[in-house]
Amino acid sequence: MGFSFSISSEIPGSLGRAGQISTPHGIIQTPAFIPVGTKATVKSALPDSVSDLGAQAVLANAYHLYLQPGPEILDEAGGLSTFMNWSGPTFTDSGGFQVMSLGVGFKKVIDMGGDSLNSDDVIAEKRERLAQVDDEGVTFKSHLDGSMHRFTPEISMQVQHKIGADIIFAFDELTTLHNTRKYQERSLERTRLWALRCLDEHKRLSDERATKPYQALFGVLQGAQFEDLRRKAARDLGSMNSSNIEFDGFGMGGALDKSMLGTIVSWMAEELPVNKPRHLLGIGEPTDLFAGVENGADTFDCVSPTREARTSAVYSSTGRFNVSNGAYKRDFSPIDEKCSCYTCAHYSRAYLNHLFRAKEILGPTLATIHNLHFTVSLVDQMREAIHRGDFFEFKAEFLGRYLSR
Ligand SMILES: [Zn+2]
Repeated sequence: MGFSFSISSEIPGSLGRAGQISTPHGIIQTPAFIPVGTKATVKSALPDSVSDLGAQAVLANAYHLYLQPGPEILDEAGGLSTFMNWSGPTFTDSGGFQVMSLGVGFKKVIDMGGDSLNSDDVIAEKRERLAQVDDEGVTFKSHLDGSMHRFTPEISMQVQHKIGADIIFAFDELTTLHNTRKYQERSLERTRLWALRCLDEHKRLSDERATKPYQALFGVLQGAQFEDLRRKAARDLGSMNSSNIEFDGFGMGGALDKSMLGTIVSWMAEELPVNKPRHLLGIGEPTDLFAGVENGADTFDCVSPTREARTSAVYSSTGRFNVSNGAYKRDFSPIDEKCSCYTCAHYSRAYLNHLFRAKEILGPTLATIHNLHFTVSLVDQMREAIHRGDFFEFKAEFLGRYLSR
């Protein structure tokens, strides 16, 4: 079984659509939120729980799995899905984001090298430069033990083929909103040339490993907040063909000014081929999910629901709150009366409050199940609204309640 994408409903007057992605490990109804399992595990949750809460697929990080346990181990195990006991579709990102951002507390430190002092250098000033980008690839320091490593487009493809996810991403250079326009232009050209090399290496590896399940390769679009660069990236990668293959879909990545999220997604969606899926990387807040879906993004991933759950921050239909707060000590209602998740069916805010205060492991587990269900189910409801034809009514009703707190 290969890879395909079909559209079944559209939002009239906008770029949004609902459809389905078919992969060798199953089908994803879109739009869909994809939980992140960075190191081949959704932190604190059993795969059965992740499946029961409604998740259709999970996304792991090539950078983390490359460093630990190493892609060879996943290859020997039969690929990511078998290794982690997740029977559904899987994604891996290219490692591009992590090699350029990790080790400095998610501050995006990029050494452009060569040029005299400008704003691109100021970003890296006074911080240890953990990644050196050149036209061939990126040399970086492991955040685990400080050892030196190098990723190139070819190495990223080799790592992702060994990990074996159904959907993999091309290696791209991450920029920040603070890089100069001149640097964004140079970086975009570098990412374009890397995309060609990813297609070539992906074709070579797919032929060499022809007995393995088909892996779909998504090109990654950068261009920060510049309309002409975002549109150029979408046109370049949207029509790119090398070694006689094209990208199966596209990732919308990089620095995004959140207040312009919907507009930036629409620039790319207007230029991209209609019949290929689009994944919006690293987006998961409710307002951003609506903006993404409305403007033509099909799938999303984000660490926020799980990361925040571990700090006792929980989502509800009337906004987010911290369940470890003293106000919930004697609150025997569920996190959200409207929620149908396992946690809300069986546990009270008071019990979660107790678990977090007592530092019990079950606290993060129950909060993770709820936050993931909330986010997955929100995008599921958007999909149903697109099919029904009342997306904007659902959006107004949901956000009216959610932002009321
Ligand atoms: Zn719940």
